Amino acid sequence: MINFLQLRNDMIDNQLISRGIFDELVIRAFRDVPREEFVSLDLRNIAYSDCPLPLDKGQTISQPYMVALMTQLLSLKKTDNVLEVGTGSGYQAAILSKIVQKVYSIERFAELVAQAKSNLKKLQINNIELICGDGSCGWEDKAPFDAILVTAAAPDVPEELINQLADGGRLVIPVGEMHMQRILRIKKKGKGIVENYYDSCVFVPLVGKRGW
Ligand code: SAM
Repeated sequence: MINFLQLRNDMIDNQLISRGIFDELVIRAFRDVPREEFVSLDLRNIAYSDCPLPLDKGQTISQPYMVALMTQLLSLKKTDNVLEVGTGSGYQAAILSKIVQKVYSIERFAELVAQAKSNLKKLQINNIELICGDGSCGWEDKAPFDAILVTAAAPDVPEELINQLADGGRLVIPVGEMHMQRILRIKKKGKGIVENYYDSCVFVPLVGKRGW
């Protein structure tokens, strides 16, 4: 019998806190979300490994540290409305849902949307709205967002996403080449933006009108 709770706590200590994840809201969310529920049965025993894992449709659930870093960079508050582009398994959306009021998430593969919905329903997470579609231009009807998180690699920053940020809003997105990117955080301040780059990373591509 695998002790998933022990594995989860070890992952938080050894992969997250030891690498500089300090936001208590983020750490608490990681304690609350069972990652093993978001991977296929044959991968449950390695659900807490320090790496991305395969999903259907050639996609991946991201490395736990990347999920934590990107979430921390969003500087989330309880009252925030957040958009995620790239639902995949629903794990990142579940982490966000434990911190903020409302999460909107878009995924381009209907099969993954169905799987994510089922994963989230099992855990009785009810503050996430999921749709199938191209999220590279955001979700205009639900804007403005306090935070937007893109979990697929973009060639550059879609202007639509910046336009859909509230004043003071934060966008976190992997940007760069197809096979190597860096995490970029943009903060919107009035009509201006402030950009900061963080870790190198390799995400699956953002495919769509404003992606690859
Ligand atoms: N956040 C996910 C999780 O927690 O499992 C992992 C995301 S995976 C690294 C990237 C996801 O982005 C894939 O599921 C992919 O199908 C999706 N994607 C790529 N381009 C997209 C687009 N234009 N709109 C919506 N989803 C997209």
